Amino acid sequence: MGAMLGGPGVISRAIVRGMGACGRAAADLVFPWHCAVCGRDHALRGAFCPPCRARLLGDGAFAEGSTCPRCALPVGPHARVDKGCSQCRGRPLGFDAAMAMGPYQGHLRELCLKLKHEANAWLAPGLSGLLATARAAGLAALPRDAWIVPVPLHWSRRLGRGFNQAEELARGLASSLGLPLLRPIRRVRATGHLSRMKKAERHEAVRDAFRARRVPDPRLKGRTVLLVDDILTTGATTGAAARALKGAGARRVVVAVVARDL
Ligand SMILES: [Zn+2]
Ligand SMILES: [Zn+2]
Repeated sequence: MGAMLGGPGVISRAIVRGMGACGRAAADLVFPWHCAVCGRDHALRGAFCPPCRARLLGDGAFAEGSTCPRCALPVGPHARVDKGCSQCRGRPLGFDAAMAMGPYQGHLRELCLKLKHEANAWLAPGLSGLLATARAAGLAALPRDAWIVPVPLHWSRRLGRGFNQAEELARGLASSLGLPLLRPIRRVRATGHLSRMKKAERHEAVRDAFRARRVPDPRLKGRTVLLVDDILTTGATTGAAARALKGAGARRVVVAVVARDL
């Protein structure tokens, strides 16, 4: 693995784990970072070297205004999207708006696949940073009292995986936007591997999979929530999570993901 795995390297990762923030600072001084895309060492702290970062934000990202504001699928320059695009118009999604950094392909796809393993959790700040940069305008439009909420994993899945990649991404977004991260919903049903299911099966599998911790939740009443996940595919999972949030009182749910599966 070594350089191809990327990141601060095996030894410095061990230091980071053992010593927390202090160890991370020490590791930065001693070990160079390997770019998660090209594997080259670079002096800047972070997951990507400057050229790869620029490429991810260029060709790898959606241009501003090139996606449907409701479902985040790409749309043509003259498409009417006030009530959604031709793919989502008239279809209840559960959430009100969606933004993605870029399409689920190429390097972005590889990075999302890597982020499913706990050993690659260090990629999350880099990816949430790219998302915050690519979708800066949409994120800046959030009300100042909005909450950042990760799509939760079922406890059994979280135990197996060791971490929730959506939560790692949400933490990065919360810190760059200066908004609080909260966990007002739980995943109460283990749903198996949605990626192996057809669209209708996915919607059936995640129905009632999420439950708010309090219904109604007075703190959620009237609030805008930024619901964070790594990938948006059919919208079944995020839609079900959004419905649980709204059922507890949230007024508006905006989905933010790293990658949109087309
Ligand atoms: Zn690179
Ligand atoms: Zn749409």
